[in-house]
Amino acid sequence: MDQIYFDYGATTPCDPLVVKAMEPYFFERFGNASSPHESGRTARKALEDSREILARFLGSQRDEIIFTSGATESNNQAVFGAARAQRKKGNHIIISKIEHHSVFEPVEFLKSHGYEVSEIDVDENGVVDLKALKAAVKPQTILIAVIHANNEIGSLQPISQIGAITQAKHIPFLVDAVQTVGHIPVDVDELNADFLSLAAHKFYGPKGVGALYARRGTPLARHLLGGDQERGWRASTQNVAGVVGLAKAIELCEQNMAKEAKQQAQLRDRLLAEVPQRIQGVKINGHRQERLSNNAHFSFAGVKGEALLMALDRKGIAASMGSACTSGAIKPSRILKAIGLSNDLALGSLRITLGRWTTTEHIDRLLEELPLIIERLRTHG
Ligand code: PLP
Repeated sequence: MDQIYFDYGATTPCDPLVVKAMEPYFFERFGNASSPHESGRTARKALEDSREILARFLGSQRDEIIFTSGATESNNQAVFGAARAQRKKGNHIIISKIEHHSVFEPVEFLKSHGYEVSEIDVDENGVVDLKALKAAVKPQTILIAVIHANNEIGSLQPISQIGAITQAKHIPFLVDAVQTVGHIPVDVDELNADFLSLAAHKFYGPKGVGALYARRGTPLARHLLGGDQERGWRASTQNVAGVVGLAKAIELCEQNMAKEAKQQAQLRDRLLAEVPQRIQGVKINGHRQERLSNNAHFSFAGVKGEALLMALDRKGIAASMGSACTSGAIKPSRILKAIGLSNDLALGSLRITLGRWTTTEHIDRLLEELPLIIERLRTHG
């Protein structure tokens, strides 16, 4: 890759070993996993072996895994499915203020249809206020959703502690673990998660495939209707090649995760230390310690984030302002406003996310180019 890629939080390249594992499932083993014949049985076996691999990684049962088209679908299914299944119990939902759009928007939709929503504040480090969350619980609360690590600023949340609250109150708990699965150990029992969403393309697997973990017995209504796939939980012919890729990507992460996290944390810490040394008027966003090992997030006073991204791009460096979906939007990010940033700082943000192929030389290049670009933008706009 000629380009220096610092946008692993948006998506990762597919590991060549993942591509290799997927290849047979496009032609030789192309069958429909629901077909009873040999070809179908081969596909079915690959699907179920993959389910086993993912379940093992998450510490779950196989029948608690629903393969989906990605985390957006998983989150939609959990939110709408939990709401529909608990109509009689209540209509109150609690979410953190820093949820991804794929949780936030379905919840907003329910709000516009009569549901009551409590949005829990985060502190200046982007960590959810546990006391406020506990205080918000009502008898009619039917779902609590808190992201494992925020995709923009990388702050890790006290999920196990929140899970202890939700468990004690018997309220289904949705954890969006898109940014953590494949990067740190994620165990559904340790987290006390009832629903957990993930997407393969965030951990060197293919795009368009993900999963929803749904704990046995948790109230959930079907979301996609049609066929009986995924034990009736999700209609549509399974993406067998994609699922095989997801499982292979998980296996590779299991082997490499600890080493990679350590390496990336060292590179990240260099950025967190050296960017403020080289540039005036910079703020580091997110928790200093309790953050994703591959995420560094800055705000530069008096700089427009879009112009900064374009200037970096011209130098062959790909980064982002926050989530891929909000890049290009002029509005200050909802997440950065939640941690109390001014519009100026929120609009002058830069997210650097590292990954499997990030090198020390890439960091050197960024540390060289960034001060020059910031100075030029501050002088000439
Ligand atoms: N949740 C988080 C935290 C994310 O970062 C993303 C993607 O950026 C999603 C959910 C949605 O994932 P997908 O676009 O693969 O559906």
